[in-house]
Amino acid sequence: MITMSGPFILVKLSGKILGSQAERIVEKLIQEGEIGDEEIARDLKIDENEVRRILMTLYENSIVKYRRVKGVKDRLYKYYWRVTDEDPLSLLETRRKKAIAVLRRILEEQESKNYYCPVCGRTFTFDEAVDLLFSCPKCQAVLEMQSPEKLEKLRKAIEILEAAVFTE
Ligand SMILES: [Zn+2]
Repeated sequence: MITMSGPFILVKLSGKILGSQAERIVEKLIQEGEIGDEEIARDLKIDENEVRRILMTLYENSIVKYRRVKGVKDRLYKYYWRVTDEDPLSLLETRRKKAIAVLRRILEEQESKNYYCPVCGRTFTFDEAVDLLFSCPKCQAVLEMQSPEKLEKLRKAIEILEAAVFTE
């Protein structure tokens, strides 16, 4: 069971996705409420472009949102950032379900296509492998069977995710 609470979830989640600088940026947003990217870069002494890159990825992951304001003098847009209003728990729940779906798809594919090329990584079903005389059409390498340990690892990862419960 994984237990986490409050805005702390957002900070940790950001760290997991993007590393320690993202953690610091989200912490800063929680402290400030709303703040521009230039101010974040200045206060945390992180390169401005790096701050924007991290904020955009956080935005794509629904962790932050922004408000855009046109400058009076330079007519350039200025971006003000804040953390999402969405419940952090439901955010995590969405990510958990997505991760399970992705892993299941990979597992299914690897279970049916249990031959692979050790050079380019392409996978084949048994029938396809027989047709190809167990040789990769692209690199001519001899096809190998997927190791059962790899499938076992995938099944374990799915099990762990399915059992994970996020609570306040
Ligand atoms: Zn190949």
